[in-house]
Amino acid sequence: MASINLENVQKAFGKVVAVDQLNLEIKEGEFFTFLGPSGCGKTTTLRMIAGFYYPSKGVVRFGEKDMTRVPPEKRNTGMVFQNYALFPHMTVFENVAFGLKVRKVASSEIKKRVKDVLGKVRLEKYSDRQVSQLSGGQQQRVALARALVIEPEILLLDEPLSNLDAKLRDEMRTEILRLQSDYHITTIYVTHDQAEALSMSDRIAVFNFGVCHQVGTPLEIYNEPANDFVASFIGEINFIPMKIENTGEKTIEISILDGTKKLHVNHTSFNYRKPNDNEDVILSIRPESIKLSSQRMEGMNTLEGKIELIQFFGSMIEVLVNVNGLMLRVNMLNSNNFSNLQNRTNVWLNLPEDRIRIIPKISGE
Ligand code: ATP
Repeated sequence: MASINLENVQKAFGKVVAVDQLNLEIKEGEFFTFLGPSGCGKTTTLRMIAGFYYPSKGVVRFGEKDMTRVPPEKRNTGMVFQNYALFPHMTVFENVAFGLKVRKVASSEIKKRVKDVLGKVRLEKYSDRQVSQLSGGQQQRVALARALVIEPEILLLDEPLSNLDAKLRDEMRTEILRLQSDYHITTIYVTHDQAEALSMSDRIAVFNFGVCHQVGTPLEIYNEPANDFVASFIGEINFIPMKIENTGEKTIEISILDGTKKLHVNHTSFNYRKPNDNEDVILSIRPESIKLSSQRMEGMNTLEGKIELIQFFGSMIEVLVNVNGLMLRVNMLNSNNFSNLQNRTNVWLNLPEDRIRIIPKISGE
């Protein structure tokens, strides 16, 4: 097992800078996810760790060892590709055994290790099957077995579930977590799916346009996004343009809706950083943090609005409320009594002072 360190890493393809000024420390045994939209540099970073690309600048270390220009076959990493990259004309056994044969492992040892790993991915009965005769989920397991059988120090998974249907994806998520915990192997998982990232990872790095915007646990990233890009990429969020009026020891007074309404924010409830003079900031609040009532509410941080849309999603209901032209989304659990809510009726919203975040606005939208 190994920790991984990226120090000031950059990768350029001609004029395209795919990854820039990247500093990351991935701990031994950690399940670490690279999350971000298409083209943000996730795969390029993974490939620099695998050795398929060498960085244009910076250093890649496994533990203390400088691996920056070490070729892939000397890195002891196992990789699962998005399209699996299995050998279609070979059997399951032959696919999984391939890496061991290349490493000149004795055939009796190969048989034992392939059998063990096929057991781990629950494919022991399929050993002699051609991989072209397997389902997508089974092929995925073969790809995992092939990566794991060489007993790598590091497991690299590049969008491994994106070709599977929703139900199978759920199953394979659990399977990957089980294997990772059995092998206790340092794992990097690339995905653009925030639900996968939140549910599977010890920590997540959120990327956009080649830049890493935040590294943290799923809870940290969800509850304290570093900026509006991270906040909107992970989960649902309401943004409200705002202006800071006063900053006290515990409370910031802000104004919204062109100064017509004042709100209070408890800045000790999150990692608040006072904005620089020219920095744009925005109020953000998660839809489930807003309290909605059809009864008049008075007092601090209360807004009156009109229901524009009610959508039922089984376990929860989503209500879109128009507050003087500002659209706010509120999510409520189905267990709440919402049957009295009607379109175009007035409701009152409370924005708890400790659930509001004031964050840098970088997206320019
Ligand atoms: P996806 O989720 O779509 O795979 P990604 O986040 O993994 O995207 P990368 O594949 O790392 O993104 O690509 C980052 C940027 O670098 C993109 O703009 C891409 O077009 C560019 N890029 C990647 N590989 C190459 C290459 N071999 N030659 C030129 N440009 C490349």
